[in-house]
Order: sequence, then structure tokens, then C-alpha cells
Amino acid sequence: MVSPDSVERVVQLATRYGFNALFVQVRGRGDAYYRSSYEPRAEALAGQPADFDPLGYLLRCAEGAGLQVHAWLNVFYVWSQPQAPRSRQHVVSRSPNWIARDAQNRYQMTTAGRVEGVYLCPSNPNVRTHLLKVFGEVAERYPQLDGLHLDYVRYPYEGYCYCAGCRARFRQAVQERVSESRRAELDRRASGRNPLAWIQAFPAEWSDWRREQVSTFVRAFSRQSRRINPNLILSAAVWPDPALAAQHKLQDWLYWLRSDWLDTVLPMAYDKDTAVVQRQAARVVEQAQGRPVIVGIGAWQIPPQSAVNKIRTVRRQGARGFSLFSYDAITQNGTSETYLCQIEREVNPNPFG
Ligand SMILES: [Zn+2]
Repeated sequence: MVSPDSVERVVQLATRYGFNALFVQVRGRGDAYYRSSYEPRAEALAGQPADFDPLGYLLRCAEGAGLQVHAWLNVFYVWSQPQAPRSRQHVVSRSPNWIARDAQNRYQMTTAGRVEGVYLCPSNPNVRTHLLKVFGEVAERYPQLDGLHLDYVRYPYEGYCYCAGCRARFRQAVQERVSESRRAELDRRASGRNPLAWIQAFPAEWSDWRREQVSTFVRAFSRQSRRINPNLILSAAVWPDPALAAQHKLQDWLYWLRSDWLDTVLPMAYDKDTAVVQRQAARVVEQAQGRPVIVGIGAWQIPPQSAVNKIRTVRRQGARGFSLFSYDAITQNGTSETYLCQIEREVNPNPFG
């Protein structure tokens, strides 16, 4: 959504090819594609007039077109460029002590290995307060929104976050479980040669505690969002296997869904193999216990016929809908209709609407 033209084009193509909902990324990397009081305008909007509001404009364009609009918000993931953000107001420049660290106290600016770039520390209370302000502002300023959609609401992987704040807060959470002498010994080791002494003494608790940090945020987000606008559909993009998501990403999304903090989930069933997508969709639908599931399909890396096969498959498994990731990839930034044309020709309207 980098120009008025591109916004109009999204709405035009979605309407033309029979889609009923848009998930539009308005917080990409700790920045804003909407009017924000808390985060800098996205650098991709630098050439646009200062009063161009991509989300506001899209909502106006979508009005009357029968399209739901969900604001897609990346949560803890805030940067992925080798150079620092241009704005000094960006959270990475303004609050470097909020950045999540690995066990060697390092972080990385760009995607490499299992980490996509800079994440914020999920257990830091200032991080949570900031994120709630940002997401509250989106809900309040855009009452026409149909939903809020969380992405990267997790740790990069289980190798994070070992920042000084996490170590201190985790110690606080478990210290009552040990005798005074054991506590003194762990403190001595933690302040000396091994800063991870407490974590290593309680490995299972360490994982549970980190899952709780993300879950606590999701619960607060849900309560706040429902208070601001009870009609909002709350959702998240999640790793398709709930057990692996909880173990490796500390993302306990089945618990969030069953607690009704979220109304629906979008499992990222991006595998190229339709049999894998089928298995994942069936399991998520079963475990959601009647709550709607919208299966995310990795359209960017498969031909349209393969996407069609996956759409049919996930519908048969009882998914309420599907989403195609992503618009930019399959329309080549709005310049090609070939992919959408084939999808529309071969996929019947969803009986659920
Ligand atoms: Zn931390």
C-alpha cells in the first residue's frame, strides 16, 4: 500500500476476482502504513504526500465493495534491513534495550538462519505497553475495520530471548522454588561466570515462562481490542502444527483460540505438497473444536493450479476459508491478473460466504 494507485488496485482486483476479505499489512517493521502517534511512517511512503494515509484510503475504497478489511500487524518483529532505520523515533533506535537477545546476548539486523531480523523482547513490560498503545490506536482511529490480525506473535525460535531483563524476571518467577542455599549458589554463578545459571537449572520452566509471556500479551491485546470495538474479528497467523508452534516458537495459539482471545486462526500451511497441507488443515480444524479456521496457502511459491488443489482440499477438511499469501507475489505488485483469473475460474464461491 505504497501509493493511492496501488491501494485502488488491490481493492479493484479483490472485487473483480471474488474475494471477500483483505488482510492489509499496516505495521510491517515497527513502522506505520496508517496515521500513528507512536511509530514512524514506513520508509516506503517517503515519496508520498504527508497526508496520504494508506489504511484510511483503503477503507474508503473498500466501503460498499463487500470486502472485509483486517489490519495485519506484525507484533514482535520490527526490523530486517542491514542499515538502521532512518527515523530516530523507530523503536530499534529509540529503545535498543527492548531488543530480544540470544544466549550470547546478540541480535541480528537481517534474516539469517532461523531468525528473520530484529525482534522485541516479549517479557519486557515496556514493550507490551508500547505494542498495546500501537494496536489500540489502530482500533480506535479506524472504527470501520472488520478485524485485527497479529503476525510474528511469537519468539523467533527457542534460542531467544536471554536479555538481562528476561534473566532477572525469570529468576524472580522461580526463585521461591529453591532453598536459600541453592538460591545463593545460583545467584553466585549467575553473577559470575554463568549468567544463564537460573535458566539452566529450570529448563522446562524456562520454556513455560516464555510461552506465558506471549500468551499474556495476547490476552491483554484481546481484552483491549474487544473493549474498544467488540465487533472486531481478532486473528493471528500461526505455525500450522500447534505442538511444534508451542515448543519451538513459544506460540501457544491453541490455548489462545480455546480461551476465545482470538476468534479465528490462520495456520500458515505454506508447504508445496498438497498432502501436507491436507494433514495440517485437518488437524487444526479438529483441534479448533468448532471455531473457524482460515488456512493460509503459500501461493507465492506454487502455480495457480496447485493453489486451486489446496483450496479444494482445505475446504473438504472443514476450513471456513482460505487466504492466499501473498497479493504482491501472485499479482506481481498488481500488474498481473493471470493467477487470480485461474483461481476464480476453478474455485466455486464458498458456501459459508
Ligand atoms: Zn528478553
